Amino acid sequence: MAYELDGRLVVGVSTRALFDLTCENRIFEQQGLEAYCKYQIAHEEEILKPGPGFALVCALLSMNDLPGERKRVEVVIMSHNNADTSVRLFRSIAYYGLGITRAVFSGGSPLTSYLHAFRTDLFLSANEQDVQMAVDSGIAAGIICTDQKAKTTMDRNIGQIRIAFDGDAVLFSDESEKIFERDGLEAFEENECKMAQHPLAEGPFARFLKTVAALQKEFAGRNVPIRTALVTSRCAPAHERVVRTLRAWDVRIDESFFLGGMSKRDVLAAFGAHIFFDDQEIHTGKAAEVVPSARVPSKRVG
Ligand SMILES: [Mg+2]
Repeated sequence: MAYELDGRLVVGVSTRALFDLTCENRIFEQQGLEAYCKYQIAHEEEILKPGPGFALVCALLSMNDLPGERKRVEVVIMSHNNADTSVRLFRSIAYYGLGITRAVFSGGSPLTSYLHAFRTDLFLSANEQDVQMAVDSGIAAGIICTDQKAKTTMDRNIGQIRIAFDGDAVLFSDESEKIFERDGLEAFEENECKMAQHPLAEGPFARFLKTVAALQKEFAGRNVPIRTALVTSRCAPAHERVVRTLRAWDVRIDESFFLGGMSKRDVLAAFGAHIFFDDQEIHTGKAAEVVPSARVPSKRVG
């Protein structure tokens, strides 16, 4: 019987999201693809260092080790390169004991259709164009910050996977954020109070949150392996519409932080996020100092 991906949480990661390829990427940018491939082949024996998405991938894969559980998570490598560069990559994957066996090496072709072919629920990449195309096609995707200082070492004692989301333009649409940008805070709050009973439209990460919430429900009454947090710049009274929206979606978020413009950095560090998704660079840049962070571009219309 064919291996089925349905019913699993499928996460696509680029090689730069999983491993630290700062030096290799510099060679690619300065000397081109051929020099990059040559370098990777010449260094096939060298194990790559963990990159910004490493902690999240380890945490997610650890769910497959839960006693008595079926395999719930599938991590797939999504690369623009050809398979010639895969030896070093899979040697490093084996070195760290990561349960990743599937990969796409598209040889320069766009990845979007392959993301759909693998039923990808979440895509993490350092390539802005790939992430934009994924978001445009309806996949939850983030541009992972590669210049972060956050710890990327492997933690074998993962108690719980911790995922943090911004609200507006990530879980929810940017309809209200646009009012804030155009007319200011007062107009935004007035609109949110007026619309409190009307759920916000779904944003690029709504479906992913629902998938995670469904997974959490399966563990009800036991140790739930995933914990989620909403970390938003909203505060009262604009919180109510958020609460009612999540209720309408029948989704539970474990922890909520209504920060009213405060920096998100310290809360994210305290929560211990394996990843944080936000649409604004001002937030992901600060957050990346303490936790792995990814920026979610807004969906292009048309
Ligand atoms: Mg936002």
